[in-house]
Amino acid sequence: MPHVYTNRIFHRHDTGIGHPERPARLDAAIDGVTRAGFASSIVTDAALHPDTDRLIAKVHSADYARELDESSRAGMRLFHSLDNPISSASFSAARAAVGTALTAAAAMMDERERPFVVARPPGHHAERLTAMGFCFFNTIACAAEWLREQAGIERVFIFDFDVHHGNGTQHLFEERDDVYYASIHRYPFYPGTGAIDEIGIGKGRGFTRNIPLDAGDGDVKFLRAVEDEIVGIIDDYAPNAILLSSGFDAHRRDPLGGMRVSEEAYGELTRRVVETAERHANGRVLSLLEGGYDLEGLAASVAEHVRGMGHE
Ligand SMILES: [Zn+2]
Repeated sequence: MPHVYTNRIFHRHDTGIGHPERPARLDAAIDGVTRAGFASSIVTDAALHPDTDRLIAKVHSADYARELDESSRAGMRLFHSLDNPISSASFSAARAAVGTALTAAAAMMDERERPFVVARPPGHHAERLTAMGFCFFNTIACAAEWLREQAGIERVFIFDFDVHHGNGTQHLFEERDDVYYASIHRYPFYPGTGAIDEIGIGKGRGFTRNIPLDAGDGDVKFLRAVEDEIVGIIDDYAPNAILLSSGFDAHRRDPLGGMRVSEEAYGELTRRVVETAERHANGRVLSLLEGGYDLEGLAASVAEHVRGMGHE
């Protein structure tokens, strides 16, 4: 059974009126978990992992964390970009997203469960020293680093299926071969990165993979990218754990994505990933919520996703 981790602090990251990355997204995602029949597996306010601040300092820097903390304490303002408003609880929410993801990663290792973390703010656009695209701390990068250094995991595979390219995650790992970053995303599109020829740098060459999709693409192209490319890449890499940057903003109802993916396709994608994890990674998959801005589209997609995470 997939355990679902969330924290009430995530509601208090206030982005202001009219911002698409809003607290109601959490309720929609939890509604999706409930629709899938997993309400009893929701863990609210789990203790943040004791390695939280150390991993944030490693992936970003202690100075960057302090800057966000101080800006957040100063109240409602923009942080680094027009896309990134913060409020008094934003630092605590972003920090709790990382801490909850690490707690979920530890549970994945110890309990052999496949956790889904319903957190906000999201993380995959956050660069080492720059917040962008509604993201502050790169949560999935922190989880990948933790698995490498604390859990004896040699190879981590990150699959990012948010409609936007995860520039932050790619940049953090593009010179390494121990964390593979693969993404399917609309291209060209925000944030501008994710071209097919971005394949990694130096020792990391061949360990970054970008699969661009066209505006308006739907289930056929989306699932073909998974079946014909992602599954093969995972089989070749044989990771010890798979992390998912689970954005549901390619859903046909999404106001930002401009794609036509159905909720059923997210279920199919998830089952394919779980099957590859069974082959290589002792079934280990950890999923972190990224984007998804239509509330009904998000709820329906999350329902299919968590059902897929429970796939045996
Ligand atoms: Zn997105």
